Parts: sequence; structure tokens; C-alpha cells
Amino acid sequence: MPELQTTLGPMRRDDLGLILPHEHVFVDLRTHDRPGYAEAEPDDVVRVMAGPIAAAMAAGVTAIVEPSTVGVGRRADILLAVSRATGMPLVVPTGVYREPWVTPWAHGASVDELARWMVSEIEVGIEGSGVRAGWIKVSAGDDGITPVEAKILRAAARAAARTGAVIGSHTIRGRVVRDQLAILTGEGCPPDRFVWIHAQREPDITIHHDLSRQGVWIEYDGIGDPAEDGRYVSLVRAALDAGLGHRVLLSQDLGWYDPAQPGGGTPRPYDHLPTVFLDRLRASGVDGATVDGLVRDNPFAAFAR
Ligand SMILES: [Zn+2]
Repeated sequence: MPELQTTLGPMRRDDLGLILPHEHVFVDLRTHDRPGYAEAEPDDVVRVMAGPIAAAMAAGVTAIVEPSTVGVGRRADILLAVSRATGMPLVVPTGVYREPWVTPWAHGASVDELARWMVSEIEVGIEGSGVRAGWIKVSAGDDGITPVEAKILRAAARAAARTGAVIGSHTIRGRVVRDQLAILTGEGCPPDRFVWIHAQREPDITIHHDLSRQGVWIEYDGIGDPAEDGRYVSLVRAALDAGLGHRVLLSQDLGWYDPAQPGGGTPRPYDHLPTVFLDRLRASGVDGATVDGLVRDNPFAAFAR
């Protein structure tokens, strides 16, 4: 029976409803060498994030996949505190972000060392927090994958092949995703264990559909601006018309507590997708069962193992 590994323990499909596959709770986009990087008191993060998370729960959100990986301030202990305070299960990644956010240890580590570390975070836990990683988040440069990013991806492929965890990558260009997929499949990781994060940033949707036909999950995760809803409705309808609705993920890439801002800054709310966007999708002629498949079944199928 597949389970989603969350901060509140493993969960089954029947335990969950709507899942947002890409929203941030805590991110630091400064690099690791900056003073105060990734530092915050868990109670302060809870105070700032409790409201947006309560609003998401009221709108029917039952779990959030948190994509802030190593290099952009991942703090499993803080995410655990937020989950315990709010009741919202969060799915925390292992993995390393792209250059220049790659940490010194990851620069120096071998593929096998990186893969062993990822497997240990998935099977044992993250940094003594008691939280197990639920997926592997990586990234690649906009103009092509660098050697160190390729090394991290190769390690992710080995860890995914061993554990069944899905790999998600922040990748802006479709041709870079093709390069990544070649590395993954060469390491024995099937295409359906790969999520193309920010696919909407690639204007050529024939690449979305081509990769999705091979099994890749296509994540349209910039929903949130009402003025952009029509564009996202068109993207979803094009995928449905191509028979690829079972490979589409929808999210907003919003939030978060930012330790670089005084008091963590002002988080952007998570509830546009469940309260407004899905109605617009239904109003465009997509039936309710299909919408449920997109926001309930698909994220569970992608991230559970
Ligand atoms: Zn993001």
C-alpha cells in the first residue's frame, strides 16, 4: 500500500484529500555562507505561518509538499514544529539545490556518498529531527546542467531507484529536462519517478506533452495570480485534451517565512487554488471527477511510495 511520508508520519490515500505539491513554509534564498542563513526560532515561524496554513486547511488542503531543499534553508525541525502546531502534514525533501546554492559538503562528496546520504534521510531521518524525507528535490541551471548538478542528480537517481522516492527538479527549460531524463534513466530511475517543477516556464508545450507521454510528471505550479488563471486553465485543458491528465500536478509556489526579512516577512496565502482556481477550471468545462484526479489522486500518486 503506497504511503506519503509526512512530518506527521506516513499517510495513505484514504487519509488525505486535496494535496498541494509545491508550496513553501520556510525558505532562505541567501547562500549558506551569509550570516543568519536559515536561522529562526521555530515558535516565530509557527506564529507567522499558522494563519495561512489554517486558511489552507479551511479550504480543504490536507497536505503540502515542501520543496525547500538543502541549500535554500531546509529546516526539518522547524517544519515539524509547524506541523505539530497546525496539524498540517508537510512532505520534506532530501537533495541539494543548484549552483550557487550547492553546499561545500555536496561539492566535495562523491555520487555514492550523496546517494547514501539521501537514502539515509529517506529511510532513517533528517538531522536528528525524527522527520523522514518524503522525496528528493534537486535543480539544474537555466542554460544547462553543470557537472556538480549532474553528480547530485545521478545520486538522486540511485537513491530513487533504491527507495522508490520521487525526484522533483526546479528546471526552467525543456531541453535541460531532456538532459536530466537521460541521466536518470541511465541510472535505472524510471521517468514516472521524475517531477518537472515549474514546467509552465517552458513556452513550448509540445515538450511538456512529449516528456509527459514518456511518464514524467508535469507540474504547473505558478497558479495564484487571478490574472493568470486563464493561462493555467488553458495549460490544464491542453494536457487533458492530449490524454495526459494523469501526469499533471497543480500548485502555487507561495508562502513563506523568510529569515532574511524582519519578522520573517509577509507570507503569501495558499488558498487561491482551492477556493478560486478550481472553480474556474470547472467553469471551463472540466468535470468534477477530473478536477479531483488532478488535485487529489495525482499528487498522492507522484509523491507516495
Ligand atoms: Zn518553489
